[in-house]
Amino acid sequence: MKNVKPEEILIEKELHICPQCGYGDGFHTSFVRLTKEKCKVILICPNCHSRYDPNWEVDV
Ligand SMILES: [Zn+2]
Repeated sequence: MKNVKPEEILIEKELHICPQCGYGDGFHTSFVRLTKEKCKVILICPNCHSRYDPNWEVDV
């Protein structure tokens, strides 16, 4: 797996179109563990596989 830092992305009115390739049906989600309690949510474009970091953290 490539260790490329996901591009930061801001959600304005809505987010379902990939800024990279224009794919418009939304994103896959994946999770990266930060600590024992926290994960970060990464969005992945199903079409061009660009990765985006919306800066979401979840407690798990
Ligand atoms: Zn894309």
